[in-house]
Amino acid sequence: MSSPSSSRKLPNILIVGTPGTGKSTTAQYVVQGAPSMRHVEVGALVREKQLHTGWDAEYECHVLDEDRILDELEEGMEAGGVIVDFHGADLFPERWFDLVVVLRTDNSVLYSRLQSRRANYSQKKLTENVEAEIMQVILDEARESYAEEIVLELSSDTLEALEANVQRILQFIAAFKPAA
Ligand code: ADP
Ligand code: MN
Repeated sequence: MSSPSSSRKLPNILIVGTPGTGKSTTAQYVVQGAPSMRHVEVGALVREKQLHTGWDAEYECHVLDEDRILDELEEGMEAGGVIVDFHGADLFPERWFDLVVVLRTDNSVLYSRLQSRRANYSQKKLTENVEAEIMQVILDEARESYAEEIVLELSSDTLEALEANVQRILQFIAAFKPAA
């Protein structure tokens, strides 16, 4: 995998996937193995800095203030070394990323993971997320938004898979060379 034309010394990596597929866990382990990388959990940033315009009761999520999210992230992206952790793949400029990881989880595994994760997760939202995973919504979004050769689909069903995924991303970081 080669990098697009950028002068960053460290790659920027986008980790996307349906909620519960393991984005934040994966990103945390990658940063443990590559401390020069920085993990930006966009959902947490949105809550901390109120980068939303309110609460969507139907979809049970914040209505994102996309311009402010992009402004908030922009400066840090130039230097490289950022792991952006977000569910969606169509919000960010293509030039920001050298690698886009799409985490996938088997629907029954994902169902029980989401069920045990949060008491405040409604049945409706749980079902919606599992259906979105079955329909590979995020994978399609990533493939539409980024060059085919930088999109990496990784299965994240087990702890063994998690470990293998972390190693694979660490190898990408170690092998990364800035464009001449
Ligand atoms: P996301 O950030 O995509 O919503 P999390 O990283 O918060 O997902 O993971 C959701 C839950 O699933 C956590 O309890 C985490 O420990 C667990 N988990 C994540 N990835 C795996 C995996 N590959 N195998 C087993 N459990 C996992
Ligand atoms: Mn997360």
